[in-house]
Amino acid sequence: MVKIHFLGTCAGTEPQPNRRHSALIVEHRQRLYWFDAGESCGYTAHLMGLDLLQTRAIFISHPHMDHIGGLPHLIWVIKKLESRAGEALEHNIELFLPALAIWQGVEQMLFFKGRALDEGIGFQAALISDGIVYSEEGLKVTARHNLHLGRPGPGEPWQSFAFLIEAAGKRIVYSGDFKTMAELAPLLDSGPVDLLLVETGHHTVEEICSYVVEQKKAVASIGFTHHGREILQDPDLELEKARAIFGPKAFLAEDRMTMTP
Ligand SMILES: [Zn+2]
Ligand SMILES: [Zn+2]
Repeated sequence: MVKIHFLGTCAGTEPQPNRRHSALIVEHRQRLYWFDAGESCGYTAHLMGLDLLQTRAIFISHPHMDHIGGLPHLIWVIKKLESRAGEALEHNIELFLPALAIWQGVEQMLFFKGRALDEGIGFQAALISDGIVYSEEGLKVTARHNLHLGRPGPGEPWQSFAFLIEAAGKRIVYSGDFKTMAELAPLLDSGPVDLLLVETGHHTVEEICSYVVEQKKAVASIGFTHHGREILQDPDLELEKARAIFGPKAFLAEDRMTMTP
C-alpha cells in the first residue's frame, strides 16, 4: 500500500494560518520519499509520527523557497534523530535536485562539529533530468520538465519538474509548479493516473478540471495542493466548483492530512 502525507499545502504567498509551504511524503513499505521540502516539513512529519530515519529519497521540483526552505532543517532533524537512535544506520538518502547549488548551500548551512554529513546516514545529491530518475524497492519516479522557470539557456539544465510516482500498482502525478496544463500531458498520457496532485498557486480549479475532462485524461482523482490566495479565500466554494466539473473525486489537501490513492 502507498500512503501520501501532506506536510505543507500552501503556495509561496505570505504566511497563511495553519498552512505551511509545499511538502509531501509518499510512504511505501515503511520507507519515506519526500516531494519538495517547504518550511518546517521535518518538524511536521516528525510530529505526525513518521519515522524520518526511514527516508530514502528527497525529490525537489524546483529551487523556489516555498519548495526548499525546509530542506536544511529536515537534514538537521534526520541527523539529530539518528544521533538519538542508539543504533548505527548506514544507508544513504538520495537527493534529486534541479540544481546542485541547493545541496552546496545546505552543506554550508549545516555545521556538524566533528561529524561529517556522510557518516552514518549519508546523503547523495544528483541532478534531475527528464526520464526515470529513481527506481528502487518497488518505487519508481519519472521526471518531466515544465516552464515554471522558463526555458534554460543553451547547454543549461531544466530548472523545474513534475513527477510521476509509481508504487504498489498506483500511479500518482505531482505537478510541482508549472505554467500550462499541457506541460503535464507527457506524464498524464503515459498511462491511467490514480491521483493527480496539482498546484493551485498559479491555476484555478476550473482550469485544471476542465483540462482533464475536455482532454479526456485518464485521471481517477484530483488532489489540489500548493494553495494560492484565491483558493484559500473560500476553499468550500472552490471545491464545489471543482466537483461540478470533475465529479466527487476531487479534494483539497490540508496540512497534516494522510490519504491512500
Ligand atoms: Zn511554489
Ligand atoms: Zn515556484
